[in-house]
Amino acid sequence: MSSSQIINQRQTKYCLAIEETLKNLHHATNLELLLDLRKLYPSLSITTVHRATQRLALRHKIAFAPLAIDGSTRYDANLKPHDHFMCSACGLLKDVEIKDQLKLILNTLIKDCQVSGRLTISGICNNCQKGGNNE
Ligand SMILES: [Zn+2]
Ligand SMILES: [Zn+2]
Repeated sequence: MSSSQIINQRQTKYCLAIEETLKNLHHATNLELLLDLRKLYPSLSITTVHRATQRLALRHKIAFAPLAIDGSTRYDANLKPHDHFMCSACGLLKDVEIKDQLKLILNTLIKDCQVSGRLTISGICNNCQKGGNNE
């Protein structure tokens, strides 16, 4: 087996592991994925995670979520178009469906324009309201 074949096998293994981890976390940055995956693969590097998520996003195996609070790219395991609630204190993301009714109201408000992109509603999550420590 050539060394490039070995590298490919390794990349496939990590891609699958990253897909699985993202499904469990729902939304995650490369760093969050790395921290979780290091429990299984202690030698895993951020570069490998970065490359794998780029490949997965290119193949539409994972989607992009709204950016994390520090501005880093965040990935989404849910491939269907959907809207988000984002906590502006801790960055927590929740998938939400904005009812068609609300889209009608928004379309009316913006006159002849059409709402088509995904919406992100911001607020304070339950945990932060209680003064929780995000755990
Ligand atoms: Zn929060
Ligand atoms: Zn989502």
